[in-house]
Amino acid sequence: MMTQNRQDIFPWQSAQWQKIQHLMHINKMPHTLLITGSTMLGQIEFAGYLSQTLTCAHPQDGPCYTCKSCQLHAAKTHPDILWIQPQTASQTIRVKAAREVIDFVTCTSNQGCCRVVIIAEADNMNTYAANALLKTLEEPLPNTFFILTQGNTSLLPTIRSRCYQIHFALPTTQVAQRWLAEHTHLSDKDMNLYLYLSHQNPLLAQKYAEHNELQKIQSLQEQFILLSETKISFYAATQQLNTLGVDFVLKWQLTFFYAMIKSKLTLQKDCQHTVWNASLCSILQQYSIIDLIHHYDWLATQQVQLRSSITMNPQLCLEALLARWELLLLSSRQPN
Ligand SMILES: [Zn+2]
Repeated sequence: MMTQNRQDIFPWQSAQWQKIQHLMHINKMPHTLLITGSTMLGQIEFAGYLSQTLTCAHPQDGPCYTCKSCQLHAAKTHPDILWIQPQTASQTIRVKAAREVIDFVTCTSNQGCCRVVIIAEADNMNTYAANALLKTLEEPLPNTFFILTQGNTSLLPTIRSRCYQIHFALPTTQVAQRWLAEHTHLSDKDMNLYLYLSHQNPLLAQKYAEHNELQKIQSLQEQFILLSETKISFYAATQQLNTLGVDFVLKWQLTFFYAMIKSKLTLQKDCQHTVWNASLCSILQQYSIIDLIHHYDWLATQQVQLRSSITMNPQLCLEALLARWELLLLSSRQPN
């Protein structure tokens, strides 16, 4: 039989895994587990690893990777594991999915072991779905395990109170750097910049690196510099920002303004050793913290409106952003 590629837990999850293993060894594995913590710290992978271990015929410190159950898991066709996972971050888990879960857990296990339901980003469950699941979570059937992961918002207290919680914290710089060095080809400088942009989250840093986010951020800043030096027209700058995408522009403008506000508050020159362009930083340094916060609020509102409204025009949003930027430039040039 072929041996499956090993997908171990991430180094920053080892303490949590040891805790789970201990509970398994003393036969006290909780029936309903909730994984909390910053998003993209490998919660889904951890849930997958745990479900594989729970269903494995010969588990040791983890799954054996060779039994029939492990092979089915690797092929993502295990009949005793049900994944409920929103396709997008904003997609709601509806009552239909909750009914699917109830039907699944009331059937007999196919492999004769146990049944595992993984509900990823369970905070996306609507109230009807949560209410439909409450009783099942409260009185779990024997050999049935629920693994819930939490996304960006908080879970309903009624669900949360029924779960045994484990929390994933961001790894130390050393752990994050070591993992990134092993899994990317980044230079030390770029690795540290990506870790800065991802707030020390190695998986997010890896994703940013795969999408060349640093280069795109440089290109974004370049448009603002060209506009401030009147080397590019308002129209051309809008077109350039449009090619980067309004989501991208708003996200990194928010991050940039947040860094500037933090730099003002803490008196640390955040911009000098990171990705932010020095001349853009010096323009913004002339503004009061209140002005910066006002602009940050405006950006955040645009982002919320854009995500919640299908009628908002991205082009108009970018034009409004550049118009505000030109105003900032104009007032920064006026003599005191
Ligand atoms: Zn196995």
